[in-house]
Amino acid sequence: MCTTRPDDDPLAGFESRAVRAGQVRTDAQEQSEPIYPTSSFTFESAAQAAARFSGEDPGNVYSRFTNPTVRTFCDRLAALEGGQACVGTASGMSAVLATCLGLLQAGDHVVASRTLFGTTLSLLTKYLPRWGIEVSWVPLSDERAWADAVQPNTRLLFAETPSNPLNEVVDIRRLAEVAHAHEALLAIDNCFCTPALQRPLEMGADLVIHSATKYLDGQGRCVGGAVVGDAQRVGEEIHGFIRTAGPCMSPFNAWVFLKGLETLSLRMHAHSRNAQQVAEWLQGHPGVERVHYAGLPDHPHHRLAAAQQSGFGGIVAFELPGGREAAWRLIDSTRMLSITGNLGDTKSTITHPATTTHGTISDELRAAAGIREGLVRVSVGLEDPADIIRDLERGLG
Ligand SMILES: *Cc1c(COP(=O)(O)O)cnc(C)c1O
Repeated sequence: MCTTRPDDDPLAGFESRAVRAGQVRTDAQEQSEPIYPTSSFTFESAAQAAARFSGEDPGNVYSRFTNPTVRTFCDRLAALEGGQACVGTASGMSAVLATCLGLLQAGDHVVASRTLFGTTLSLLTKYLPRWGIEVSWVPLSDERAWADAVQPNTRLLFAETPSNPLNEVVDIRRLAEVAHAHEALLAIDNCFCTPALQRPLEMGADLVIHSATKYLDGQGRCVGGAVVGDAQRVGEEIHGFIRTAGPCMSPFNAWVFLKGLETLSLRMHAHSRNAQQVAEWLQGHPGVERVHYAGLPDHPHHRLAAAQQSGFGGIVAFELPGGREAAWRLIDSTRMLSITGNLGDTKSTITHPATTTHGTISDELRAAAGIREGLVRVSVGLEDPADIIRDLERGLG
């Protein structure tokens, strides 16, 4: 599809691919990509229908299998991540689910970082064991712990870097070495950086998972997800699971995400610049105990993040000494920031992870993930950073 490109390819640059990769113009010669809101596709003859169903003719059959708008989105994201294949899913969670159920079976073992997104933690702790898939948990940045947790039946290493919401980072190249030394696969949830700031496949990861709901859309409109990787695992096995089980991406949502990709690089660098300003201001405020942002030189993973990412992203977390009461007071005193669990939007959002995104997991897992009662997470948007700071200042007073 889009892996090897000749030197004179006009789409060699990341931004060029973000704007144009995957577009197939119809006879109408449209400038912007069309939406195909159709559940099924028609055939010229019974023989063509038979060939399409058997897979002999690769054309469209039914939108649970393929849809041209979804395919354009997938081809574009694959070109940005540097993967051979990509599948679109109904949500980020169904991208995680399809990865696990498309590739694993009862008796297999997964090693995962403790700092995963709250619902991913729930999926892996509550449901995978019911299907006979065992999970071991390790601290994200402890490479030795990953290696020690691998067993003969380990098939998958699953990490989210940077982590939500503390911005912890793991060395993707080292983790890929650990996985491949044991013939396991490495999956990276690249939601926080997106391919504009980090490309895990280039560093040896086998699979990249996205919640397109976040930065790929970037304007808080649609729920969706994607998995990117090689033609066999993603194009055949994971796609096979999705077309059978059904958590496919809608063509309308695919079109929204496609338009989001066109401005991805611009937005991610602007989110990073604004977040840096907000983080530096918070760090200098006497009412703030600690700021978790990898763009700050005293963040424990600052150097690794600087080497592995081309920006530190838009998520800033910080701790207040007054626990839940102080955190809620700060959140309630904001006037511009949106109080919502979503992130990756042009609009800045603020949330209390311990009682929202990480509210349903056990106290033990929450403590292991470092989510304390005084922690507040801000997804720094694209408003004037001076206004974001002024809004936070109201509750810190
Ligand atoms: C939101 C999120 C998900 C889940 O995505 P949905 O689209 O909400 O299903 C997975 N991983 C990370 C890091 C997320 O932030």
